[in-house]
Amino acid sequence: MIPAAFEYDRPTTVAEAVDILARNPGTAKVLAGGQSLLGLMRLRLARPERLVDIGGLAELRGIRALPDGGLAIGALVTYREVLDSALATSRVPLLAMAIADIGDVQVRNRGTVAGSIAHADPASDMPAVVLALEASLVVRSGSGERVVNATSFFEGAFVTDLAEDELLTEIRIPAQPTGVGMAYRHLEQPASGYSIVGAAAVVGRTGGSITTARIGVTGVADAAYRASAVEAALIGTDGGAAAIAAAAAHAAEGVAVGSDIHADAIYRAEMARVHVRRAIEAALGAAG
Ligand SMILES: Cc1cc2nc3c(=O)[nH]c(=O)nc-3n(C[C@H](O)[C@H](O)[C@H](O)COP(=O)(O)OP(=O)(O)OC[C@H]3O[C@@H](n4cnc5c(N)ncnc54)[C@H](O)[C@@H]3O)c2cc1C
Repeated sequence: MIPAAFEYDRPTTVAEAVDILARNPGTAKVLAGGQSLLGLMRLRLARPERLVDIGGLAELRGIRALPDGGLAIGALVTYREVLDSALATSRVPLLAMAIADIGDVQVRNRGTVAGSIAHADPASDMPAVVLALEASLVVRSGSGERVVNATSFFEGAFVTDLAEDELLTEIRIPAQPTGVGMAYRHLEQPASGYSIVGAAAVVGRTGGSITTARIGVTGVADAAYRASAVEAALIGTDGGAAAIAAAAAHAAEGVAVGSDIHADAIYRAEMARVHVRRAIEAALGAAG
């Protein structure tokens, strides 16, 4: 099928882009790399009356080092640009661990990290990653800028804290605690590569016991989430195999586990426990 008819804007400044969004409430959609939106439009599952193509907004390009040791990723940064960035891969290795397996070459060349976060597909990988990194999301509208913690951004399947007139402009990842290790483990749907279950872990020990444990989980519920029960069970332990397995047993606690043609709820919850355990083990193995 071909998409339904739509108007097309290509603003040259962020101010112009948010002005167009404000003047077209509920009818305009931001177009970034188009890897999710254009497919939905071709199937007529999405019928925006107007596309606001942000591809010309130089303000949204680039990866910057933050003075505190963190990283800022502009909304137009593609997966490929992250993989090719020595700054991003050295400061936040978790990004490349998750991105390397996303889609195919074309998806990684065109798709943006911010587009994945704004889209909030329950099976997408980046939400789990930004949750584990305690990233902040910078959002602009005609009324100014606000910064949202990733933990309060993902609200449901394809639903986020973003309002219709808001543009996600930057992802800010704070410096991670010294000595932590990071890892991403997932069970892929073999045809699409989307995660049936994905687990991102940032874990560290001080003086023989676990002092940092941040676990982001995707694919399991309607929205990606922090596995708080796992984190609580792991903190203060020695991080040995038994402690990790006991903590990972809580991976699907407190969420409504999804069920579809790829995995029923019982299998999905078990895969969440397995992949959370593996991600923690790998993160601890990588810790300094
Ligand atoms: C074949 C294929 C395989 C894939 N496999 C995977 C996979 O294995 N894992 C995975 O996680 N993902 C996968 N994806 C999804 C892919 O990662 C996303 O489609 C992509 O990252 C979205 O970014 P985009 O720039 O293309 O966004 P678009 O498609 O341009 O936009 C997506 C949505 O986000 C909104 N949006 C985009 N940018 C902004 C912004 N800055 N501010 C506000 N709203 C915005 C748009 O309005 C739209 O609703 C796959 C996609 C395809 C086509």
